[in-house]
Amino acid sequence: MGAPERPPAGSTAPGGGERPPDRTRGRVYLVGAGPGDPGLLTARALELIAVADIVLYDRLIPARALDGAREDAELVFVGKEGGGASVPQELTETVMLERAQKGSMVVRLKGGDPFVFGRGGEEALALRRAGIPYEVVPGVTAGVAAPAYAGIPVTHRGLASAVALITGHGRAEGEQEDLDWPALAVFPGTLVLYMAVRSLAHITESLISAGRPASEPAAIVQAGTLPDQRTVTATLGTIAGAAEDAHIRAPAIIVVGAVAALAEELSWRSPRALEGRTVAVTRARAQGSELSRRLEELGARVAQAPVIRIRALPGPPLDPAPYDLVCLTSPNAVDGLFERLAAGGHDARALAGARIAAIGQTTARALARRGITADILPERAVAEALVEALADVPASRALLPRALEARDVLPEALRARGVEVDVLAVYETIVEPLSPAALAAARQADYITFTSSSTVRFFLQAMRAANDAVNHDAAASPDEGTPVGLAPTTRVVSIGPVTSETLRENGLEVHVEAERHDIDGLIEALLADAVAG
Ligand code: SAH
Repeated sequence: MGAPERPPAGSTAPGGGERPPDRTRGRVYLVGAGPGDPGLLTARALELIAVADIVLYDRLIPARALDGAREDAELVFVGKEGGGASVPQELTETVMLERAQKGSMVVRLKGGDPFVFGRGGEEALALRRAGIPYEVVPGVTAGVAAPAYAGIPVTHRGLASAVALITGHGRAEGEQEDLDWPALAVFPGTLVLYMAVRSLAHITESLISAGRPASEPAAIVQAGTLPDQRTVTATLGTIAGAAEDAHIRAPAIIVVGAVAALAEELSWRSPRALEGRTVAVTRARAQGSELSRRLEELGARVAQAPVIRIRALPGPPLDPAPYDLVCLTSPNAVDGLFERLAAGGHDARALAGARIAAIGQTTARALARRGITADILPERAVAEALVEALADVPASRALLPRALEARDVLPEALRARGVEVDVLAVYETIVEPLSPAALAAARQADYITFTSSSTVRFFLQAMRAANDAVNHDAAASPDEGTPVGLAPTTRVVSIGPVTSETLRENGLEVHVEAERHDIDGLIEALLADAVAG
């Protein structure tokens, strides 16, 4: 673990301001992102996402696939919005070509494998025609992975010695049939069908009329490898009806063949506490990943709606000598402090003379990673608790690295007792635009989590902007302060009293408030609510 990411040869280091156009860097990576479980992203895919200038991504990519992208990377959604309009393929190709020609390192990220029903071949042809260098990074394809996660081996000695990957798409009303049913009916092995939910009845009837036995085992795996994966097993003759009864929706893989019957014996995923629940995460992408990962481990489906982004604020190197107390209120503050120290040629040793106070376990952990154990760590992770904990701690000059916009409880309390306080803004939280799909998913979630007041404010801002766009023509007076649009069943989860206060100020009801004001506490509270409800 912890190996530094290595940019491909010829590229410049990530981060760091203006980059002069470097035409030798211009290259496109056609990258498979796997079927949905973030653990099935390849090491190569993660490595490339981490250094890309621009990532063009589809809808069916794993939830946290883009977490490791550079702060300044452009992340462009080019897929089909749930049921809505899709970005035309030609436009995607044009953007891809233009950006590579201008010297950008482009990652074209696709669900599953790029060359399996992913139009990766067409994109490679366009790149070849334009003379742009490209690389293909295969991914774990849904047709193999979804069955595997349902306990179905697509080949099995004695049962299936061949497997066919088939598209079920392409027979819209009046369209030419492009599948050879008689050939598929006699195919000696497993049939794996992609994009086949809508035409399932037609497919099964066609196979049976062409001679495939109606009694042959069949299975359908919805959302394979994802937390809300579901499997329905039946026979070729009954699967279409069974899928309809179970309200199976895309994305799903259909397996026809003797191996489908193995699901019963070999299925290995056990039900988890948050199975079937959707939880929206509004915190910054880089910080939300731990929360998202833990929620997914509990079986939740995570709707990523990162409304904020953390931006480090540059500043002069820091001389820590005068301080006998340093208060750290977030992991970002820890990072910011150490950046300023490093800029002055200092490291952790420079803090040896100061007492270190921290708010929250995650802040303490961030310090621990720098080799520092916090001297003062109040049980409750709020500024008021730290003020209390500091009451008897002698201090004459305190340093408070923190966000540009933050509450003044701590500095005011310290100043009130005669401590000289230097507040150092080392980062700021800025708004991150949400795609309409991300916003829609967050609004419909069973739970929506808020881990700070700024996530509340920025999320409501995004919601209002979306509503304004819809109600553009309505002459009604602007509906300031009314957070319209959360589904009535969505439960609002807050990390602590300060965040709850901001939620209430904005007219939102708080259904769950964490007792411990950190990620562990938030998850505990959410779990308790889910189990109770
Ligand atoms: N290139 C992708 C396939 C894209 S076509 C791959 O290699 O997997 C889209 C189809 O893939 C969906 O209609 C569905 O049939 C299948 N699919 C993608 N993700 C899936 C998942 N998590 N579970 C089941 N099927 C999935």
